[in-house]
Amino acid sequence: MNFSIITVTPFQQNCSLVWCERTRKAAVIDPGGDVERIEAAVEEAGVDLSMILATHAHLDHVGGVAELAEKYHIPVYGPHREDQFWIDALDAQAEMFGFPPARPFTPDRWLDDGDEPRLGEEVFQVIHCPGHTPGHVVFFLPRARLAFVGDVLFAGSIGRTDFPRGDHAALLASIHNKLLPLGDEVRFVPGHGPMSTFGEERQSNPFLRA
Ligand SMILES: [Zn+2]
Ligand SMILES: [Zn+2]
Repeated sequence: MNFSIITVTPFQQNCSLVWCERTRKAAVIDPGGDVERIEAAVEEAGVDLSMILATHAHLDHVGGVAELAEKYHIPVYGPHREDQFWIDALDAQAEMFGFPPARPFTPDRWLDDGDEPRLGEEVFQVIHCPGHTPGHVVFFLPRARLAFVGDVLFAGSIGRTDFPRGDHAALLASIHNKLLPLGDEVRFVPGHGPMSTFGEERQSNPFLRA
């Protein structure tokens, strides 16, 4: 397994390119926009892009999904069905944030807790982590001890919950009951900002103190 992070959109969103080194099959997680930069990263890595994964349906994470899926003829997996209302609101999101109009998409498969999309010889574990959005999912690679957590958890912070259907208590429950138990050594790529580990956040993140 290998990966690279491509920072996209005016919101500096961390889009990730993840690939299986044996088969060269690759997934893009959260293509929020700047599709030409994602294409350049695919080219540079010399990988076979075969799926798009979405953690949640905020525009800065899915703004490039439709274009990328069409260009590469690849399926879109995720987020969880509970985020449908955010996909329905993509136009309003674009207007609100001053983004170019975003094309809607329909996931080829909604994801549920416990799903295991396969990428070559790698398997992602899907963990449903509601709170920031009700349909937010996290992608965990158990062998690599690496998680892609979207806007659930950041280095030194946690996701906003002041959006429609945001839920602060649910977010904290997701982090404490589903993410931190994966292990202190697990590294994670957040939706924005630098990488960290669950152990580092458990010890020092001010939003996780009781
Ligand atoms: Zn978000
Ligand atoms: Zn975001």
